[in-house]
Amino acid sequence: MLSDEELRLMMVQQQLRGRDIADERVLAAMERVRRELFVPPELRDRAYEDAALPIGSGQTISQPYMVARICEALALTGRERVLDVGTGSGYQAAVLAELAAEVDTIERIPELAERARENLATAGYERVRVHVGDGTRGVPERAPFDAIAVAAAAPDLPQLLYEQLEPRGRLVVPVGRRRAQRLELVVRSPEGPAVIRSVPCRFVPLVGEQGFDGG
Ligand code: SAH
Repeated sequence: MLSDEELRLMMVQQQLRGRDIADERVLAAMERVRRELFVPPELRDRAYEDAALPIGSGQTISQPYMVARICEALALTGRERVLDVGTGSGYQAAVLAELAAEVDTIERIPELAERARENLATAGYERVRVHVGDGTRGVPERAPFDAIAVAAAAPDLPQLLYEQLEPRGRLVVPVGRRRAQRLELVVRSPEGPAVIRSVPCRFVPLVGEQGFDGG
């Protein structure tokens, strides 16, 4: 039987490096964060699969590759203040905490936010601030942010999040239809949003004022 640590190193090697993740800081961060602490206990032996996994309330912990892709697109150096929208299990927030100075994360489902708080504490990331509410409205009292990561699919660029970016700040968000999106990197610039589209992806819908309506 391989240990969680061995499985984690294999995940980074095969699923991340073996594809196209090249940012050494992102690779090192994902070698450190114990994903098994963010999945439900009964799925712990599947923690390093190349897949999203159910975490309850109809939501999922994102596929490791997508977490890496989002982090790489944010181009973090360690000094940034970051907002993570769609806390879910807290895993993405933990990886961001390895890469940036300060992390705030917001989740609309209170039970998930509570479990994420516990997961983050167990994994050693209690400095991440977990908020409950509609993340499509951002966290105005903590804005502006150098970077914002959205882990749920939006129908359009979430304008209120864009407005909470610092000048030259970066926002990564899956944009498209309910069942198929593309990951977009949006950079705040004096001329307005500069958008770079990348990989096709499929995230659970962002539900809220600037998301999809209903569940
Ligand atoms: N990054 C998470 C992935 C969670 S899936 C992880 O690593 O585990 C996306 C999450 O976004 C779900 O938990 C869902 O409840 C949440 N979500 C959807 N719409 C939201 C909104 N408007 N505000 C905050 N969270 C939202």
